[in-house]
Amino acid sequence: MSQRTFSVILLPTSECNVACDYCFEKKEPHRLSTLLIPLLTQRLLDHLEQKGIEECEIYWQGGEAMIMGPAWFADAGGAMNRAAAARGRRFTHFLQTNLVSYSPAWDEVLHGMFGGSLGTSMDFPNVHRKLFKGGAEAYTALWTRRLGEARAAGIKVGVIAVLHQASLDAGPARFYSYYADELGLDDFQVNTPFPGGPANQVEGGFALDTAALAEFLGGLFDVWMERGYNEGVSLGPFDALIDHFTGNPARLPCIWKENCSNQFISVDSRGTVAQCDCWVTSYPDYFFGNIFQEPDLTRMLSTSRARREFVERPRHLVEHEDCLSCRFLSICHGGCPVRTYSALGTMLAKDPYCEVYKVVFARAETHARTLLRRRVVAQRAALTTPAA
Ligand code: SF4
Ligand code: SF4
Ligand code: SF4
Repeated sequence: MSQRTFSVILLPTSECNVACDYCFEKKEPHRLSTLLIPLLTQRLLDHLEQKGIEECEIYWQGGEAMIMGPAWFADAGGAMNRAAAARGRRFTHFLQTNLVSYSPAWDEVLHGMFGGSLGTSMDFPNVHRKLFKGGAEAYTALWTRRLGEARAAGIKVGVIAVLHQASLDAGPARFYSYYADELGLDDFQVNTPFPGGPANQVEGGFALDTAALAEFLGGLFDVWMERGYNEGVSLGPFDALIDHFTGNPARLPCIWKENCSNQFISVDSRGTVAQCDCWVTSYPDYFFGNIFQEPDLTRMLSTSRARREFVERPRHLVEHEDCLSCRFLSICHGGCPVRTYSALGTMLAKDPYCEVYKVVFARAETHARTLLRRRVVAQRAALTTPAA
């Protein structure tokens, strides 16, 4: 059986209990019914079987996924896992939550279904994540308290930061220090922002100057190498790039996968299938179909006209963009379709963060070379040191 992994970003609701400025979700009060879990599971398992795939990763997101409650997850996860085991397959579950409604009532399901870990998000400085009452300051205070409570309950928490202008203004050293020193995290990652919603409508001034962003990320890479790399702090996506450039197996983010359409789909609470959460919430023209209405997911994916554009994008880029002459093509593949589409109104172009990626890849290459040199020197020293 193939060892490939298939990943499903599952949105059991698009409702949310907070109000981020840059949110692209249409927050409809619709929730995935547990009555539909067996049908959803069957369709996923049929697809895994047809493709000879053993394991399926389920990334539970929202809206805010915790709105569904721990009992809902225990029921849904239990039903999915039993059905998978009966057909010789496996689901691995991951949870992405804003943490705001975390309480000890979640601990059993977090330690069981989610293997004792969760992912959450916090920006530095936080100016865009807001509670309905109290704004960004109250959000930061509540989130920080919940983070402490979850960690005290033995839950490993990974944090995603979305970069915005105030992060760049704060600078890499202060940014790093907030996550690593102030929050004491050993696992966080930075994401580049993009506007969801209609193409070309960059709302709220979230577009960043690419030269400034590149300088910030290059600086952050250096700070992490100096202060975090040898201390066991994971900072994505830099850690995966170091793995890649030192010749180790690397778990690169989806934006740099050969073709994200080979590995991901997203399904929302109504059964809509699209490439990932950004597409399923923002771009109806790019829906692949409905998993509850169409009996064969494999057929849906292979015949969807909307999906064909994703599949053909890498070939189009090497034919029509300068990616073919780029020395980082084998790691970048032209970048992310949704970042491209939301900025340019087409996905058939290279990622607008191209120049940022080049700076980050080059920095990774330099740091990786230094690490490899040090390793060789250490090995030689060990060989020439006479035994005591
Ligand atoms: S937590 Fe997520 S879904 Fe909720 S408002 Fe913020 S970005 Fe939107
Ligand atoms: S469109 Fe971009 S964010 Fe979505 S799965 Fe593909 S690479 Fe990832
Ligand atoms: S870094 Fe730019 S030119 Fe190179 S593969 Fe990526 S998008 Fe294409």
